[in-house]
Amino acid sequence: MARCERLRGAALRGLLDRAQGVLFDCDGVLWNGERAVPGAPELLERLTEAGKVALFVSNNSRRTRRELVLRFERFGFRGLSHEHLFFSSAHCAARLLSQRLSGLDTPGAVFVLGGEGLRAEVRAAGLRLTGDPGGDQRVRAVLVGYDEHFTFAKLSEACAHLRDPDCLLVATDRDPWHPLSDGSRTPGTGSLAAAVETASGREALVVGKPNSYMFECITEHFGMDPSRTLMVGDRLETDILFGHRCGLTTVLTLTGVSRLEEAQAHLAAGQHELVPHYYVESIADLMEGLEG
Ligand SMILES: [Mg+2]
Repeated sequence: MARCERLRGAALRGLLDRAQGVLFDCDGVLWNGERAVPGAPELLERLTEAGKVALFVSNNSRRTRRELVLRFERFGFRGLSHEHLFFSSAHCAARLLSQRLSGLDTPGAVFVLGGEGLRAEVRAAGLRLTGDPGGDQRVRAVLVGYDEHFTFAKLSEACAHLRDPDCLLVATDRDPWHPLSDGSRTPGTGSLAAAVETASGREALVVGKPNSYMFECITEHFGMDPSRTLMVGDRLETDILFGHRCGLTTVLTLTGVSRLEEAQAHLAAGQHELVPHYYVESIADLMEGLEG
């Protein structure tokens, strides 16, 4: 049972020694805003040198995988140029839609609430967006992602498409909000998905954490043994819950959203799925387990 123990010393060395791979959330774990967490680039280099697989699972739907690679490079993370290491909710949502729609006689089009990164991933999966030239214009799916230009008109259009019971409703994630560097908050995709669900009376199929679908995407490419895989994240209700649902060893890092006191309160209340096995102050603390 997870007990939210501080990860250090012999326990840390033993865990990393046995580990085959580590899944990292990105925002609040590897970086905050436009700054890398100190020591994070060095840790990833050491992990790779030690023969461990490092993969990235992010609910952020704003960027394509290529843009994520460039972001890593800008923050000083080296040797991570392979796009297949990155599992964003945008990429995985596009994959899910491709699986669901490609079997239809006429795959139709996808109505996307989201930015250019999400739209590019959907197109890269071989799907057409509403307004793209040619082909069948019937809207087969509404995809809700992070949309900085969300409007009443877009909400109305999404609901009009969803009157068709065969039109899928998919959301990249349910993150309610995100922290900004000045301490304020910005609404997340979960708030937009809730608006579409309320107005349409439909329930969205959610791709991102804590849904285990992203781990399915990973195991399709990497033969990961859950019992030898760590999930490192900063948010209890997404990252840690996701880790438990996938049978992974969970590590909370305290450089992001969730506080240690919250994890301890869940432990006291018996809400075990929200309690990490371990916690660290920062992922730089994991370095000790790879030395010597
Ligand atoms: Mg995070």
